[in-house]
Amino acid sequence: MSTHRARKRFGQNFLHDPAVIARIVRVVAPQGGQHLVEIGPGQAAITQPLLASGCQVTAIEIDRDLASMLRQKFADERRFSLIEQDVLKVDLASLQPQPIRIVGNLPYNISTPVLFKVLACPNLTDAHVMLQREVVDRMVAKAGEPAYGRLSVMLAAVASSQRVIDVGPGAFKPAPKVQSAVARITPLPQPLDVGDSALFADMVRAAFAARRKTLSNALKAIASAAEISAADIDPGARAEVVSPAQYATLAKRVAARASPHA
Ligand code: SAM
Repeated sequence: MSTHRARKRFGQNFLHDPAVIARIVRVVAPQGGQHLVEIGPGQAAITQPLLASGCQVTAIEIDRDLASMLRQKFADERRFSLIEQDVLKVDLASLQPQPIRIVGNLPYNISTPVLFKVLACPNLTDAHVMLQREVVDRMVAKAGEPAYGRLSVMLAAVASSQRVIDVGPGAFKPAPKVQSAVARITPLPQPLDVGDSALFADMVRAAFAARRKTLSNALKAIASAAEISAADIDPGARAEVVSPAQYATLAKRVAARASPHA
């Protein structure tokens, strides 16, 4: 497998540090009988120890050469199956059996769409994803913290996230220019009640698109200062101090005004 030349367009940075691989597998803690879906198995650095734990692995790999190597490598492994496709085109809800756990050292160039796809998965136990460390910081940030933004709010509405491992560039070949981290994402048993989810998403986008402005200014096309106050938010505050629950309250108020009989 060492003959494969890393392809930049597929964000290929292969893990080669056995200690880092072991830590990832330890935090995932796969159990026999579970169904793990691995996004971008590459040269099987994580796939192999996952399978050794007795779980079932469905691997989704876009690179034709890697897919063929994986097929050969695991030809006799009944608990392994491979989908040779772009993960963004795979219907994760149709993979059997459900529920699934997701693991992926993700290609950084498509990390945000992959994250939102993972979050939309209806029967997800949890996900462990390696990403650029700054992205993980944004995912886990709380209101008032410097990295808090749209991603933090949208994620907090549906899941809890933690940064579980920091990984330096030297763990990969080729070494990326950025620091990485593994995040654990666990869907909330009860997602935040945001009312109209499209309106909620638009509001959060607008608030952070003008994060230097006061909220009443940033949201003037969406909510009045009176509505912002009624949601227990200071209209003079900025987007970064408003909690996900406060955005949800405001979105529900605006939705109720927009459709008074709903
Ligand atoms: N898991 C391996 C490891 O840790 O060494 C490889 C990680 S590498 C950062 C990302 C992997 O995702 C590569 O194998 C790459 O070919 C694959 N990949 C890139 N884009 C993809 C896509 N859209 N769908 C599925 N796999 C993709």
